[in-house]
Order: sequence, then structure tokens, then C-alpha cells
Amino acid sequence: MLVEMAIADAYGAGFEFVEQDIIRAHNDLGGYRAHALSGESACYTDDTQMSLALAELMLSDKVWDCETIAAAFYDTYHRDPVHGYAKRLQQAFAQASDAQEFARQVKTDSFGNGAMMRALPLGYLADEQAIMDKAEQQARVTHDHDIAVNAAKCIALATHAGIYKKASLETLPDYLTGFGCVFETHWEGPVRAISEDTLSAVLMVLSQARSLSKILELSVNLGGDTDSVAAISCGIASCYEEVEKDLPQALIAQFDHPHYGLEYLANIDLRLEALKRTDKL
Ligand SMILES: [Mg+2]
Repeated sequence: MLVEMAIADAYGAGFEFVEQDIIRAHNDLGGYRAHALSGESACYTDDTQMSLALAELMLSDKVWDCETIAAAFYDTYHRDPVHGYAKRLQQAFAQASDAQEFARQVKTDSFGNGAMMRALPLGYLADEQAIMDKAEQQARVTHDHDIAVNAAKCIALATHAGIYKKASLETLPDYLTGFGCVFETHWEGPVRAISEDTLSAVLMVLSQARSLSKILELSVNLGGDTDSVAAISCGIASCYEEVEKDLPQALIAQFDHPHYGLEYLANIDLRLEALKRTDKL
């Protein structure tokens, strides 16, 4: 999950909020493009890093509450500052002297897509009610808004449905509706970095392709917040048996992020899988 998410995130970051002409000319999955603002390339962004932070919190023996969640985000960023965070998060990381101060600074009623982009690992939990409760808790740390909470629950349940074989990508919308999730599956055009846009775009992309490479290409073609749509869509799709796992070798080989790169993420993915098998979650 995290490996596929990271590759899609790094690839999508090169197209984030660029002109459609650039997407048309370069979205061929042949290699990474540098991010328009940070200049970084072949490296994942906030989507993958915050998912990693929550995955490691799940794998630890710490309790799951607003303090430990905020500390996970704060510590994971400071051990490895990656690009792509929204300005308010970047400012809080820079200004807060510790995780408690960070938690106070980042709690707002935003309905940006930050709370949903990191909810994927929660799908490894065995119980849907626990998934929804934990998705909400982590969302409200930075996005204390019902729209952001709904989107975070949807994304966590979407990975769960694949991991536990409770739905196919075709039946996923019905599965989500059964838990009270609210969404629109039709989407066209550039995606704003807000929960409703991103959720619709992800569900639309997942309804239209059955291979990771096609899902990545379609995510980027939409334009706008391409790294989030690509990261979330590929991360969810990687949990479904019916999806061909065909991310291009070139993107795997060119990925360039030392210390917390693909090898590190693959190990976390294995530990999440192992926990599921032993029913400890
Ligand atoms: Mg991002």
C-alpha cells in the first residue's frame, strides 16, 4: 500500500497544479518531473509521509488519541522534512517548539484533503466501527470539519474493503454508502485540494481502470492536486486483488528518497499485513 502510494505521489507531484499542456505532453509514466514549486523530484510528499506516520502509530503500542496523532505527524516530519505540505502545516512544523504546540496550531475547521490523504492504513483494522472512529479522531486533529471526517472515513473503509475482500472496485460505492458515507462519483476537470473534490475524483478514477498504471495516468490527467488523487487512488487500488500491479519499472528504479524510501515503506507494509494475519489489530 505505502510503496504504491509513494510512487504515485512522487509521480503526481511533478504535475501538481501545472497547465494542462504540460500534462498532455509529459504524462507517459516514463519518469519523474520536478515539482513546480519545491523543485524536488522522485520523492513523495505529505500524502505518503502522513500515512506513514499513522501506520507507524498503529504498529506501536501507543494509544490512539489526539496527542499521539499530532506527535506522530510532528516527529515524522522532523526526522525527514519532505516537500508538498500546505502552508499552514509547514508554518506549524517550523514554529512549534514541540508536538503539543504543533497540535494547538494545526487544529482548524478546514475541509481540505489533508485528513483523507493519510487515512489509508486504517483499513488494516479488522472492525469497521473502529476504522471510522479512528479515521474521525485523526481527521479532527487538523481538519475539525464533518466534510473532512466523511472523506477520511470513506478512504479508510475503501482500503479495508479491498484488504478484507468485502467489495470489488465495482461494488465499492455501494459498500461505502452502507456505512453512511456521502460522495459523488462523477468528476471532470482539475481537482482542488479539498475533501469533496478529491473524494469524487478518486472514486471516479477507481471506477474506470483495473491497473495501477492506468489509475496513475488517469489521476494525473485530471489536473489540479494530482499527487493526492494519484497517491490515494493507487494506494487504495493496491489493496484489491483484481487490480494489475503494473507500476512501471522506470518509476521504481528512479525513485530517490534515502532513509525513508521504498525499502522502508515496504517493511511497514509487511508489518501491517503481518498484524492483520495475526488478528492483533
Ligand atoms: Mg501532496
